[in-house]
Amino acid sequence: MTEINAFILDLDGVVTDTAEYHFRAWKQLADEENVPFTREDNEHLRGVSRRRSLELLLGEHLERYTEDHTAELMARKNGYYQEMLHHITAADLLPGVSELLDDLKRRGLKIAIGSASKNTTTVLTRLGILDLFDGIADGNVVTRAKPAPDVFIYAAGMVGIPVAQCVVVEDAESGIEAALISGMIAVGIGPETRVGKAHFRYDSTADINLETILDGKI
Ligand SMILES: [Mg+2]
Repeated sequence: MTEINAFILDLDGVVTDTAEYHFRAWKQLADEENVPFTREDNEHLRGVSRRRSLELLLGEHLERYTEDHTAELMARKNGYYQEMLHHITAADLLPGVSELLDDLKRRGLKIAIGSASKNTTTVLTRLGILDLFDGIADGNVVTRAKPAPDVFIYAAGMVGIPVAQCVVVEDAESGIEAALISGMIAVGIGPETRVGKAHFRYDSTADINLETILDGKI
């Protein structure tokens, strides 16, 4: 049986759902740039870095833009998004998150965040759960995005737990891949088609069965 001593949680889609805020910010930018962008297009941006998201959003229009201009677009989108983050409250915690964090704390497990978001600390503060985390690895401390394992390995280092004793909870396919490359136990949140490669899979954070994972023989 694997000994488990830390949980590393992805932020978006696991702890809270800022996808709607991201969508509105990207949509505003796309409208201003006269680039078509739908909710369906937005699905492809799940778990993807800001730069890559912009490339996907612009598609064939990308060649119209210089490097400086794309940097300005990313900054503008982030400005809209930051503005929207002010509206986040504890009510934006996904169901089951508070219970999960309490349970992990009670068992004496380390808890960290492993997220590409550069706004992780702001979001956790707005949600009112910042002080529950022992480590925060985010887009400000690593440059290579998932599926590169960097952010999870950095998180494990922050809490001082070997990677083989870490569990990652993720809702993106690239995040599950990153967890597996890291040598961590992967818990997928979402449909089989997206996170089916994980060791454990649940439809939502509220469905996570900690006993099963901690006792799990994988
Ligand atoms: Mg996510």
